[in-house]
Amino acid sequence: MRLTAESLVCVDFDDTLVANQQHFARALDDLAAFAHRRLGVAEERTRAAFAAVDRRYHHHGRHRNRFLLTVLAAYCEVAGGDAVPLDLVPALAAIAAHPYDAAPEPKPGAGEALARLRAAHGGPLWLATSGDPVVQVGRVERSGLRPAFDAVHVLPDKTPAAFRGLAAQVPHTDRWMIGNAPRSDILPALAAGFRACWVRQTTWELDMAPVPSDVPTFDDFASAVAWLLEGTSRQDRLPPDRMAHQGGMG
Ligand SMILES: [Mg+2]
Repeated sequence: MRLTAESLVCVDFDDTLVANQQHFARALDDLAAFAHRRLGVAEERTRAAFAAVDRRYHHHGRHRNRFLLTVLAAYCEVAGGDAVPLDLVPALAAIAAHPYDAAPEPKPGAGEALARLRAAHGGPLWLATSGDPVVQVGRVERSGLRPAFDAVHVLPDKTPAAFRGLAAQVPHTDRWMIGNAPRSDILPALAAGFRACWVRQTTWELDMAPVPSDVPTFDDFASAVAWLLEGTSRQDRLPPDRMAHQGGMG
């Protein structure tokens, strides 16, 4: 058992506990198909326009309205106009709403692992997510995972300062963050003095970054929980981009 009653454990929500990235991928598919139908634009061109706008707006995180803006701006770019025609806004808004309105389905084994963690760990167990608080709190409730947590924190952005703010709320010196996004879960948590478990799941490409090789790395949340509770060996400590140089390990 690597946790004590003094350990604060924070867990990320999207793509750590529930599948989410696939809903963004579908929204992009729908946008590309819509632009093809309306404008005859090749889907690849819409994808490229979307990727460019996505990078431009990246600093706004994954807020619902930011994603809507990204979809509208990408369409505008391929349509070549100054603004999206008003009569197209409802259809584009529906495409952009999908990732936020889709039922948040726990990943296989995530709910059970969370229950094991809750039962074994007497210290605080917090959900640490980011985005629009109303949207995220609603999604956490609908996922059915809310009862496992002592608190749900929806941070405006997952920065080192945000993690330091979490740490300041409890006297514990032993703090953990479990998440899938290097840039918004692992690196800022480490910078704030947390220890981290990287759950190497599908991640928004703009949230990828090299993870220090001493950060324990797992293929799913349940494996991270098993390691924290039982001290089982971690599956693999190397991020995928380093594997090719390590004899195909993993
Ligand atoms: Mg995540």
